Amino acid sequence: MPRLYPLFSGSSGNCYYLGSSERGILIDTGRSAKQIVTALGDNGLDIKNVMGIFVTHEHSDHISGLRVLASRNRIPVFASPGTISALSQKNIIDEKVEISPVTLTGMEIGDMYVTPFHTSHDCAEGYGYTVLTSDGRKTAFATDTGYITEEMHSALEGSDTVVIESNHDVRMLQNGFYPYVLKERILSEKGHLSNDACADKIMQLVEKGSTRFLLAHLSRENNIPVLAENTSVCVLSQHGMKRNEDYILKVAPEKGGEAFIY
Ligand SMILES: [Zn+2]
Ligand SMILES: [Zn+2]
Repeated sequence: MPRLYPLFSGSSGNCYYLGSSERGILIDTGRSAKQIVTALGDNGLDIKNVMGIFVTHEHSDHISGLRVLASRNRIPVFASPGTISALSQKNIIDEKVEISPVTLTGMEIGDMYVTPFHTSHDCAEGYGYTVLTSDGRKTAFATDTGYITEEMHSALEGSDTVVIESNHDVRMLQNGFYPYVLKERILSEKGHLSNDACADKIMQLVEKGSTRFLLAHLSRENNIPVLAENTSVCVLSQHGMKRNEDYILKVAPEKGGEAFIY
């Protein structure tokens, strides 16, 4: 039975494992190869069973362990054409890494089907992914996006489990110590999703039948896990939706994530 393991989440590194103990995939590898292998081991998982790595975009919090992890363990890597050229231009990957583009129609890998969708982020060509697993469930990964585009919304709709960015509290960010330019970047359409925007989207997705949510990519400086959680739970309860009855919601920890109820 496939399960979702949020191994690392946040600006210090992102990495998710989706699959069973026999085989699975990684979404992003934003920590050192050693840390990722250890985190897998802590959950009884083995890097040898990773069939592929799906990269969302070229920012370091998503790819810092990529080259070593992929070349040492001969794991094929998949990403958007834009991300692949950005990674090559920056010499982040070399010929030892087998990397291929994923088209928008998606691809089969083992007993899974992975379909990408575009995100709105200040990178070459950001992707999020939905993954259909052998039990017929659909899991979506939607982080690093300034807003939820129509393309993203269509991809997320109908997902059983949604990993969604709840990056910052707008007031904390505005009143915080970040330089003006960085604040503007985060708040822009090519930045990151706020707690409020995340809560609104979750509400719409629950109405369409999604039941499991994992709040991800929280900012350490401009957010607090309990604040992110309360923002979504409040919006949902205002719409008459009861936590643990109508939906399950958790915050992905920065590290040491265990299997999410799936
Ligand atoms: Zn990013
Ligand atoms: Zn990021």
